[in-house]
Amino acid sequence: ITFRLGGHGDEDFRQTDLVVASPAVPPDSPYLALARAAGADIETEVGVFLRHCSAPVVGVTGTNGKSTTAALVAEVLRARFGKVWLGGNIGRPLLGEVDSIDPQDRVVLELSSFQLEYLGAAGYSPPIAVVTNLSPNHLDRHGSMANYIAAKQHILTHQGATDVAILNADDPEVRRWSARTPGTSLFFSAQQRVSAGCYLDGDRVVAIHGCVTRTSSKPLRPKLLGEHNVPNVLAALTVGLALGVELDSGMERACRFQGLPHRLELVSEVGGVRFYNDSVATTPESTLAALSAFSEPILLIAGGKDKGIDYTGFAREVARRTRTVVLLGATAPKLAQLIGDHLPKVGGPAVHVVESLAEAVAQVRGAARPGDVVLLSPGCSSLDMFRNFEERGDLFRKLVQEPTAN
Ligand code: ADP
Repeated sequence: ITFRLGGHGDEDFRQTDLVVASPAVPPDSPYLALARAAGADIETEVGVFLRHCSAPVVGVTGTNGKSTTAALVAEVLRARFGKVWLGGNIGRPLLGEVDSIDPQDRVVLELSSFQLEYLGAAGYSPPIAVVTNLSPNHLDRHGSMANYIAAKQHILTHQGATDVAILNADDPEVRRWSARTPGTSLFFSAQQRVSAGCYLDGDRVVAIHGCVTRTSSKPLRPKLLGEHNVPNVLAALTVGLALGVELDSGMERACRFQGLPHRLELVSEVGGVRFYNDSVATTPESTLAALSAFSEPILLIAGGKDKGIDYTGFAREVARRTRTVVLLGATAPKLAQLIGDHLPKVGGPAVHVVESLAEAVAQVRGAARPGDVVLLSPGCSSLDMFRNFEERGDLFRKLVQEPTAN
């Protein structure tokens, strides 16, 4: 093997059979163009995995809630299937384990818009496709909302007639996508009745598939914090419905699920102040969802890389909902200005711009009173200051749990 480090050489792309691109590489990269012109196949890790995976796959995408929903789907399927593999964009590539996956297992893959763009070019959609919701994101890479939608839609446009798309009936954009799959659509909803799929009737879940209707014997009370997780649970139960998981047993497993790290993760409670790590919140909607999960006064740490998103709605809600806001990263000045523009006539949060996460934690620690919630929910990606959201969340946890690290 020859390693080429620190840069690319054109000849490497002209003299190759296969290029495995990181999904972060834009498909219009000039290097990929060279490889294409020379007749090379272009794949991503997940594409290679899918070609060799012998078990049926459930793909999960959406703007928000992909990882949590994918993890919930895996939980629900474990009620019926012996072995369920969870991987993809959630942070666990399964390619190295592909030989251990049996046809009777099930695989749940979280798929990002970047991965789907490549899979779409290869004409692939998973047999079960779940779409949680859709709002503007990654517009710096996709160029326009239409391109972003087109990338995401690859999760179902190449499905076959016997495949199933599981769609959020409460999202007007996603709901329409049922017309884009040649397969069947099932819907989930926390707000309305659906004719096929799962919805809430009071606190019970109703599941309808064909002419069979079932109602859960117990109320839906997930351990997961936040109303935004209700549709995630319903999406997972709808996958269970499509794959023959008994409603009550799927629901019991989904309700027991405690959540993934960095998603509204309670990291510490000191002197009546609770500290939550929601570092995974890289979009304004995620932060809004996190803000609405609490009724306590909130001290928010936000800001990060600028992805070209409109933060007006975010600023309005932050100005209304928080007592202190500490901003860091590339978007900090812009967010401070926008939040300032939306401050109520009386009250409103104190807004601080800081240089580091350590400074941010010191700032909120000084301002917090018993009964407050300190929330790291940046609403922006971490890549201007950290390797990834995990590094940002891990540092926050450390700063909170070991005050000497401050
Ligand atoms: P993703 O994998 O799409 O980034 P995660 O499951 O990791 O999503 O959740 C990230 C954050 O997004 C959560 O901490 C929460 O604040 C928010 N979130 C989760 N589910 C939803 C949803 N259905 N709608 C809006 N926001 C959500």
